[in-house]
Amino acid sequence: MPVPEPALADAAGVPAARPAEGRERMLSGWGRTTRSRALVLVPRDAQEVAEHVGSGAVGGLIARGAGRNYGDAAQNAGGAVLDMTAMQRVLAIDPERRQVTVQAGATIAAVMAALAPHELTLPVVPGTRHVTIAGAIASDIHGKNHHRDGGFARHVHAITVCTPAQGLVEVSPQSDPELFYGTLGGMGLTGVVVQATLAAAPLPTPWVSEDLDRTGGLNATLELLAGEDPRRYSVAWLDLLAGGARAGRALVSRADPVEAPSRRERTRLDAARAEFAAALLRGPRVTVPAAVPGGLLQPAAVRAFNELRWQRGPRRARGRHLEMAPYFFPLDVVGDWNRLYGRRGLVQYQFVLPTGADASLVRCFELLREHRVPVYLAVFKRFGPAFGGPLSFPLEGWTLAIDVPAAWSGLAGALAALDEVVAACGGRVYLTKDARMRAELLPAMYPLLRRFRALRARVDPDGVLSSDLARRLGLDEVRA
Ligand SMILES: Cc1cc2nc3c(=O)[nH]c(=O)nc-3n(C[C@H](O)[C@H](O)[C@H](O)COP(=O)(O)OP(=O)(O)OC[C@H]3O[C@@H](n4cnc5c(N)ncnc54)[C@H](O)[C@@H]3O)c2cc1C
Repeated sequence: MPVPEPALADAAGVPAARPAEGRERMLSGWGRTTRSRALVLVPRDAQEVAEHVGSGAVGGLIARGAGRNYGDAAQNAGGAVLDMTAMQRVLAIDPERRQVTVQAGATIAAVMAALAPHELTLPVVPGTRHVTIAGAIASDIHGKNHHRDGGFARHVHAITVCTPAQGLVEVSPQSDPELFYGTLGGMGLTGVVVQATLAAAPLPTPWVSEDLDRTGGLNATLELLAGEDPRRYSVAWLDLLAGGARAGRALVSRADPVEAPSRRERTRLDAARAEFAAALLRGPRVTVPAAVPGGLLQPAAVRAFNELRWQRGPRRARGRHLEMAPYFFPLDVVGDWNRLYGRRGLVQYQFVLPTGADASLVRCFELLREHRVPVYLAVFKRFGPAFGGPLSFPLEGWTLAIDVPAAWSGLAGALAALDEVVAACGGRVYLTKDARMRAELLPAMYPLLRRFRALRARVDPDGVLSSDLARRLGLDEVRA
């Protein structure tokens, strides 16, 4: 079923301010820690993408979606950046086969809003609805349901991608498995995605039913997250300030979609679904102003906030009905919240440790405490089996994400110590959130790196695709 062409609008439904073609701009990721200047080009269709990719731009090029990566993945100092947000259409929805075909720059919000009237939704969503579909593919993003449903990559049927060697090609797992899987999590370095066909999931209602538990220590937290009958969504907020026997205590949220109510309630449900779609396209309730002096999130405030959050959390709650949009995207309520961290920005550090590396997990918690890292948010989740390509982040085990003000003086030393523990036990750091890791650790964290480089030698032999992240970590090398 083709979807009628909408007026050009951004995720909040506001007409998008398109940058002029070929304008030089300073770019950064959501963390605003590393900035660089590039020539930003705004292709309107696949042909324009192919022209840019084929033109052999000086300094190479990289695709950029909504710029919601935290680090330096979607910027390219001295080269070109293809801003894909003008290609934002939902092209077709097939309710029978539960499939949706979209342009690369369509946002998660726009696609979910288009699917909702068909009682469908996206099977995997990140913590913000403002990322683009191609950004989600290139980072193989995960949601609160990775242990049940895998990452975004698992739900991609086909992509149209433009590589320097081949131009525009439609790729499926059957037609070119190396390129297909290599692009899922490939950080934009295998080609520019222009279109994707994705699996959609049923949306029985726009609500989830949540159980909340406050645990006393790590074992109880792990038990709830890895229980025999895991719910579809689970996530824990760790109190990283607690030590001794209380280390690893957490607020654990486990939830399932609320099933369709009785026929009598269907009218109410239709209205709720329409409201859900509208809410996805609405702007934030408040927006942080551009100039926040010195950053509000200083260590003392961070500690006080952690303590308050912990004390305020209910000890136990069952079957709380919550609306899906705020449940999945709680941070989207505040626009530009990254500005709260001040001019120097924030680092979001996320790692995953394989199942069985429990001693390393405990060591990571100890290091965070020993270094007195001022952690504002510590989100802990369980991952299911790995899927996707050589650079895809998720692997079966435990993942922790922390937000830290970049201005905090002890940051470099603390994270370098954590990197070592993570790499030594076969874990890895999430590249889409990184702007600081040492390149030497990459092969230990991503053991299929050679395969990725071999793929690049085939699809990008002259090294046209490059980014600040790629150069910093040596990902843009084309030799195997
Ligand atoms: C508040 C917040 C919450 C988040 N929560 C989660 C979460 O729960 N789980 C999770 O996994 N991630 C999460 N993220 C990270 C985010 O989902 C990823 O970084 C995602 O890739 C950002 O998509 P984007 O459209 O903003 O892409 P960008 O940030 O612009 O780019 C990210 C990568 O995608 C590549 N890319 C973009 N467009 C294309 C294209 N057309 N073709 C090829 N490559 C392309 C870029 O080159 C770059 O390597 C979160 C980020 C924020 C800010």
